Amino acid sequence: MKKIEEYVRSIPDFPEEGIIFRDITSVLQDADGLHLAIDSMQALLDGVDFDVVVGAESRGFVFGTPIAYNLHKPFVLVRKKGKLPCETISRSYDLEYGTAEIEMHKDSIKPGQRVVLVDDLIATGGTIEAAAKLVEELGGKVVKIIFLMELAGLKGRERLKDYDVASVIRYD
Ligand code: AMP
Repeated sequence: MKKIEEYVRSIPDFPEEGIIFRDITSVLQDADGLHLAIDSMQALLDGVDFDVVVGAESRGFVFGTPIAYNLHKPFVLVRKKGKLPCETISRSYDLEYGTAEIEMHKDSIKPGQRVVLVDDLIATGGTIEAAAKLVEELGGKVVKIIFLMELAGLKGRERLKDYDVASVIRYD
């Protein structure tokens, strides 16, 4: 059986020079790769007591929803600004060039709920840190953050040092 690493396609110099893009489409378009990715991420939640899964747009939706479905938990979307129709809270964060803004519906987390955050990859950790702050602003408690892939060299874990972080694949 192939290992999950073998399904990830690495593209040098995309979207710009010097970046090695870790592509998950090659994981998802293989039935065994898709199963292995979901099962491996879900295994990171063994023994974790939580109420809701929150995924970051857009690849966090792909991995977060099947995990929530399998474990019979609700799934909540963190979206880019301007996409959610009801009352929202938002947060800006810095990108390498410029800033980004993400939002959540105000009624998506109930105070005291225990939240698992999901995304495909942690680079600097800026996106998921902003998502964690939104969850906290709504009164939720982030009990675990999981990723399929981790770019260890970018030290995202240091940025998330207050949280319990786990990933399936680590690139140094
Ligand atoms: P960050 O906020 O820096 O942790 O970046 C996280 C988001 O950017 C993730 O949701 C990834 O989807 C995307 N990303 C950043 N770097 C890469 C990379 N080298 N390959 C694929 N996706 C990336």
